[in-house]
Amino acid sequence: MNTTETRQALVLGAGLAGAACCATLARRGWSVQLMDAGSEAAQGASGLPVGMLSPHVTRSPTPLSRLCALGVADAHAQLERLVPEGAGWQPTEVDNLGHDPGRKPAALVRPAALVQAWLDEAQGLGRLQTRWSAQVQRLERRDAHWFALDAGGVVLGRAPVAVVACAFGAHALLQTLFSDDPAALPLRPVQGQLTLASLTGEPLAPRPMRNNGVFVPSYEDRELPPLWPRRVWAMGSTYARGSQDVTVRPEAHERNAASLEQLHPAAADHLRRCAERGELLGWAQVRCASLDRVPMVGAVPDQPALIEQMRAAGHRRGRIPLSDAPRLPGLYMMSAMGSRGLTLAHWCANWLAASMSGEASTLPDDDLDLERAFDPARFAWKSARRQDA
Ligand SMILES: Cc1cc2nc3c(=O)[nH]c(=O)nc-3n(C[C@H](O)[C@H](O)[C@H](O)COP(=O)(O)OP(=O)(O)OC[C@H]3O[C@@H](n4cnc5c(N)ncnc54)[C@H](O)[C@@H]3O)c2cc1C
Repeated sequence: MNTTETRQALVLGAGLAGAACCATLARRGWSVQLMDAGSEAAQGASGLPVGMLSPHVTRSPTPLSRLCALGVADAHAQLERLVPEGAGWQPTEVDNLGHDPGRKPAALVRPAALVQAWLDEAQGLGRLQTRWSAQVQRLERRDAHWFALDAGGVVLGRAPVAVVACAFGAHALLQTLFSDDPAALPLRPVQGQLTLASLTGEPLAPRPMRNNGVFVPSYEDRELPPLWPRRVWAMGSTYARGSQDVTVRPEAHERNAASLEQLHPAAADHLRRCAERGELLGWAQVRCASLDRVPMVGAVPDQPALIEQMRAAGHRRGRIPLSDAPRLPGLYMMSAMGSRGLTLAHWCANWLAASMSGEASTLPDDDLDLERAFDPARFAWKSARRQDA
């Protein structure tokens, strides 16, 4: 799929993942049709008023920490290149108070600024069409094209290649293609709420602090939408696994206050006083996580063919490598960014666009272990190996 004539793709989802796909594909000459259920970009989790871009440090390296190490530098370079400082992000440092304590370089980012910058870049190259309020109900393969259809069967778009980058929305769209096997597509929603309020006086701490949650004493953004004050402090975020309810709740503010108590007791008192005076603002949305918390990025497996392949191999099935798993022609996914969309979106999208364009892997030293760790076929492959011969 690497000739100019075939370089046309549908991208579903206009958050960090989808927008990064649009930019990285457009740079390679692809024409992209982007569609999203929302009335504009970044209305899902990427509508976060302020998030943290920082290293993900673990006691020993894990696939996620290795991916994040690649992603942090890459995302930072994107911010420097595309978003004016103060109009969507600000450089900072964060005091890590949990394990691996110490001060780390970081950035505070409003993801929608980056989303818009990537869409502007793709549009500027003349390679992006957008379609809003387009809720895709199902994907069908006909005449060597993927068709995106709405609930009434109306065709919203079609292209030889499709990238499903719509966070937990990918579950409903792809589950039948995964033979309705829950073990093959273990995506789950993780709702979260951020607590924030206008910052009127001096910040309560010199820089962000992190342990169980992140306290942002001050974030200024001259482009924050009218709903939000230009200068805020924030504490987040809660985790509610399995929930997709985006109602802002006082109980979740209180959970953030309890986490803040561990970081900065005076700031927790301030949060509670703001709550009593009705001055708190809140923002709640849904992250999408995979079972192993590593993103799912790459070609979507053909699960029935995979099961058939395993059956045919009988007792030798254990020797079939993941890279040999059959794939659905022209169908890719980029989902399960979890709590790390800012760090991972551009690096993953660039890897995916390179792979879709038939380029060599962008991984250092062709790191196949890491590729296997984020391969969207990994769960289907394990599940098929368990099926009866
Ligand atoms: C409270 C909270 C705090 C967070 N804090 C941080 C942080 O500090 N740092 C960080 O890096 N990350 C943070 N995250 C996570 C980050 O927001 C996500 O990782 C990131 O936004 C995911 O991007 P995405 O494009 O995959 O998903 P989304 O931004 O959710 O985009 C998915 C898009 O797909 C669309 N869609 C879904 N289904 C369909 C369909 N069937 N048809 C058409 N369109 C569809 C939706 O409308 C949506 O626009 C936080 C998340 C939350 C909720």
